[in-house]
Amino acid sequence: MMNLEDARACLSAGEAVSEACVDAARRLTVGGRNIDEHQVLTERVAYAHTELAAARALLEYAESANERVSKMLTQVVVAATGELVRSALHRLEPTWDDLDLGQAHANEILDDDTRRLLRAAVHESRFREIGAWIGEDPKGNVVVLDDMHEEIRQAVRTFGAREVLPNAERIHRRDEIIPEDFIRKFGELGYFGLCIPERYDGLEMGSQGMVLTTEELSRASLAAAGSLITRPEILAKALLNGGTETQKEYWLPKMASGEVMVAISVTEPNVGSDVASVGCRAEPSTLDGEAGYVINGTKAWCTFAGRADVIGLLARTDPDPAKGAKGLSLFIVPKDPFDTHEFEVVQPGGGRLTGKSDPTIGYRGMHSFSLSFEDYFVNSDSLVGGEAGVGRGFYMQMAGFAAGRLQTSGRACGVAQAALETSAEYANERSQFGKPIIDFQLTQYKLGRMVAKLAAARAFSYAVATAMDEDERKAAPLAAQAKLFSCDVAVELTQEGQLLHGGWGYAEEYAISRYVVDALVLPIFEGVKPTLELKVVGRALLAG
Ligand SMILES: Cc1cc2nc3c(=O)[nH]c(=O)nc-3n(C[C@H](O)[C@H](O)[C@H](O)COP(=O)(O)OP(=O)(O)OC[C@H]3O[C@@H](n4cnc5c(N)ncnc54)[C@H](O)[C@@H]3O)c2cc1C
Repeated sequence: MMNLEDARACLSAGEAVSEACVDAARRLTVGGRNIDEHQVLTERVAYAHTELAAARALLEYAESANERVSKMLTQVVVAATGELVRSALHRLEPTWDDLDLGQAHANEILDDDTRRLLRAAVHESRFREIGAWIGEDPKGNVVVLDDMHEEIRQAVRTFGAREVLPNAERIHRRDEIIPEDFIRKFGELGYFGLCIPERYDGLEMGSQGMVLTTEELSRASLAAAGSLITRPEILAKALLNGGTETQKEYWLPKMASGEVMVAISVTEPNVGSDVASVGCRAEPSTLDGEAGYVINGTKAWCTFAGRADVIGLLARTDPDPAKGAKGLSLFIVPKDPFDTHEFEVVQPGGGRLTGKSDPTIGYRGMHSFSLSFEDYFVNSDSLVGGEAGVGRGFYMQMAGFAAGRLQTSGRACGVAQAALETSAEYANERSQFGKPIIDFQLTQYKLGRMVAKLAAARAFSYAVATAMDEDERKAAPLAAQAKLFSCDVAVELTQEGQLLHGGWGYAEEYAISRYVVDALVLPIFEGVKPTLELKVVGRALLAG
């Protein structure tokens, strides 16, 4: 019977190899400055480090867990650690020659005993046991929290089951907009202000509560519930980081109550990953004697822009493109709300903002818009940070994205949880060859791997939530890693779950088909996966 000490031995070996690779990659890329000359190697090193960080979070959770934990926890930790360490080692091996790491060095770390331990950790019998357990208890969860947080989880779960679930399928299939009723109830429950300080009328719940709430709402529906609270989270964090006191006092209470709905607009038709190249212009101007800015340009993929009352807009205030990120500022752009797929706002002074949503395969309910600003006027109060905020928009936006990415790791865990539960239930209900498919070894094995991966993603998200509350700046790369890992887990689990449903997994009638298309968006926004790996995780890791 393997125990947590064995898991730690596996992890230590993996981390020793990873550290050697990171050190060598730092030298090779000159502290991350030459990443673009070694992109594939950087991606491998960054992703392997992320997998090991997830394994470490799960192991540390288990080592500190009290009597509340499920008896399955140790098995899950051993299995997940074995799986993640082996994956990381496999990923790193092709880099050894480029990094001048000899086979002898690796053999020293990965001696015969360690290799045997790693093989035993991922023995199929362990995953099958975990899979059989989840088959008996499809809602089973090995990563539980203290009473207060478990109460939050239960309350949001109940709300999701009562209010969101009965509408989720209809909203998805008819591509409806999120009902006003949801917005009102979210506002009453304080979901829009989870991380907003109490002095600005928020709940100041801390990142852990925020992640849990997001996870449970996303379990009910990613698009119709969990994602509704990400935009205020991003803009609130940007405001808290760089807004003036007057702006915080004006906007944060309105955002916390749900009186003001938020959209975030960074991406442009020709600018995605290269955020520093944002071209939408904001030029100083006056209208009827009022000082402000006039906005011209196009934006893409602005989610919830129709219903939003304000758009957090990243725009270029310095016309010199050579200024890059230093030429960008953040604006809070007011607009009228619409519940349609197309809209137009015409200002008395002639300024125009038009929006048209781009149909998507999933993530419906939020609706993501292409926008066009033509001489759209905003007054000076809209510039986040006032005059001191000129040229600082990129940095405020990135602070907002760090919080958004942590929240997205919670969104991903919620979608993955939904996929796991429904697949475990289906495996009980569906019989082939004269018995329920849950009784087949391979079904149990697959469900067991799903449980292990999700436990690692969940523990990682919770650990990063704690780190964020301690030091947001320091934890920002960790939030990117948690997002990277959890979103991949959500994609993998939804697709595995779909296969467990056989042909019915492809039918709209079964929720798993919605989970699959919803999950696909997770590794795209807030930094598409390769960009996140290279420019955020890789760069931070190799610079350190
Ligand atoms: C449903 C949905 C909702 C969204 N919501 C929002 C929103 O609310 N607000 C918002 O601002 N944006 C939003 N986005 C946009 C999203 O953030 C971008 O799609 C994402 O940042 C990637 O940008 P891009 O699509 O232009 O891809 P690109 O940047 O063009 O990338 C295309 C591919 O090239 C790769 N690539 C790019 N540069 C490099 C490089 N240097 N080295 C190696 N590979 C590279 C990328 O990793 C990617 O695989 C949303 C997108 C979707 C699909």
